[in-house]
Amino acid sequence: MQEMKTPKKSLLYYCIIALLVLAVLNIFVFPLLQDMNIQDVGYNVLMQMTEQKNIGQVEIKDDEILFTDRENKQVYRTGKMDDPDLTNRLYAAGADFRSITVNEMSPLVYFLISFVLPTALFGLFGWVLYRQIKKRMNDGASPMNSLTFGLGGMGSGNAKVYVKSADGIKFADVAGEEEAKDLLREIVEFLHDPGKYKEIGATLPKGALLSGPPGTGKTLLAKAVAGEAEVPFFSISGSEFVEMFVGMGAAKVRDLFKQANDKAPCIVFIDEIDAIGKRRDNTLGGNDEREQTLNQLLTEMDGFDSSKGVVILAATNRPEALDPALLRPGRFDRRIPVELPDLTGREAILRVHAKKIKTAPDVDLAKIARTSPGASGADLANIVNEAALRAVRNGRKAAIQEDFEESIETVIAGYRKKNAIMSDKEKMIVAYHEVGHALVAALQSHSAPVEKITIIPRTSGALGYTMQVDTADKTLLTKTELLNKIATFTGGRSAEELVFGDYTTGASNDIEQATRLARAMITRYGMDEDFDMTALETVSNAYLGGDSSLVCSPETQTQIDKATAELVKKQHEKAKTILSENMPSLHRIAKFLYEKETISGEEFMELLKETEKKAENRA
Ligand code: ADP
Ligand code: MG
Ligand code: ZN
Repeated sequence: MQEMKTPKKSLLYYCIIALLVLAVLNIFVFPLLQDMNIQDVGYNVLMQMTEQKNIGQVEIKDDEILFTDRENKQVYRTGKMDDPDLTNRLYAAGADFRSITVNEMSPLVYFLISFVLPTALFGLFGWVLYRQIKKRMNDGASPMNSLTFGLGGMGSGNAKVYVKSADGIKFADVAGEEEAKDLLREIVEFLHDPGKYKEIGATLPKGALLSGPPGTGKTLLAKAVAGEAEVPFFSISGSEFVEMFVGMGAAKVRDLFKQANDKAPCIVFIDEIDAIGKRRDNTLGGNDEREQTLNQLLTEMDGFDSSKGVVILAATNRPEALDPALLRPGRFDRRIPVELPDLTGREAILRVHAKKIKTAPDVDLAKIARTSPGASGADLANIVNEAALRAVRNGRKAAIQEDFEESIETVIAGYRKKNAIMSDKEKMIVAYHEVGHALVAALQSHSAPVEKITIIPRTSGALGYTMQVDTADKTLLTKTELLNKIATFTGGRSAEELVFGDYTTGASNDIEQATRLARAMITRYGMDEDFDMTALETVSNAYLGGDSSLVCSPETQTQIDKATAELVKKQHEKAKTILSENMPSLHRIAKFLYEKETISGEEFMELLKETEKKAENRA
């Protein structure tokens, strides 16, 4: 994709150019013109030439003397001395006393350079200024604003125009997201062959809104539409409309649609539209500028004739915050969800990006996809790049499986800490903690298999972690599975308690996650007997972390807190029971992990089975 930007210089730019030209003229050219034929000499030269009678014309000024030689070829200049006899001597030498015109330049040229040129420069400057102001006024802004704008050098508010180029992004570059691609493909086809649709009486949808979590490829999809449609593509970010001065945003919207109408058929893409499309409300001190901009956008979207072939695409990760007026049919009448990729989607995305780097033939991308649940397209692109970087760092010509696995950990937990200071005792505690998680997970049915356990500290602050990976993507979780998850979170602390009789601060993250899950079970999933199927919490910002707010009385809140604590406590007890019944396994695997620092899921299961068998034999 090639980006073309119309060059638009600010007033400041012209101003500086004009000043520079004047300065150059003043410093170098004017003095040069004046003194073209004068040669500065000492007083002795004048005396000598007088003696030799080699004197032509002479002019004695107040502070200097100009004179020529006999042939009047060269004009000399010298300072004045206290020499009262000079006039007589000059007269004797046959000098011709008269005023000497030094400037041999024609008066016309002199007039042009010293008067007309500067005037012309200033005239040009004024004309540019006038045009800019006039343009701003046509755009509807007050001239005062435009002046500030021009001089500030931030006057260029035009949408960037993307034109198709040889390396343009196509739908093939966007992996997964089949539903989104299908919906967009229809728009592309309409732009190619409107007749087919007009025959049956269908009109082109005016706008399509791409919504989904960050990094899922919304911007990428819009660029792919531009690449496929082979029509002009205007791209502007919502935040670019938000200006310091009221009215500027609206002017920009008008300008954008004017350009689009001229270039139809074309596509207008407004990225991060929530910056201007936010729900209007009656709060005091509302944002006037934003509302004006939104109103202008609404008007423009109504105003143009969609049969001309202008399609508006927009992207946001906060669809619920958008103004309802923006979403009604006739404006953004097509909403295209772009969700986090599932297992096959992740593999496809990895494949697309792995094509750009050199990989060893035995790299198993399916496995990488399995070990990265919840990763967005952007995360996956990052994982592939990190793998390539690691390969280079280790002097390899191609990325191998290990590079990919390490880069997932890097993206999840940060880089390995090079010289983390951890005492042996601490390392032992971390080993027991992590094996505690892993054992509780493995010894309950219905929990995801352990993939890897490591106690290498990471830059994110994690001292170690246990990676569990489901064999398939899960969209539904049962109550048992959720309870088991909470038990697994408490497994680390339980192991510390059982083995060392004390506990550390290392469980803070586990505690947070366990509590959040327990709370959600009660307030959102209706999994508590007392509250049954009552919604006690609503979630906003589903795509951005999912903040939730309570919708219940303070008394109920107290009850919820109590129920949450009880739920977590019960699972904690369960985890402790499981571990205390399997102490030999806990000791054995923790020692093994302490020595090796990282063990795989298979090694873990093997060790577990071995110790269990031994225990059976002894019994
Ligand atoms: P957003 O949804 O936040 O606009 P982007 O479109 O900017 O996300 O995606 C960021 C990057 O992530 C892209 O440049 C691309 O490299 C990668 N990416 C995201 N989704 C996909 C996908 N479905 N296929 C291939 N690459 C993707
Ligand atoms: Mg984006
Ligand atoms: Zn833990």
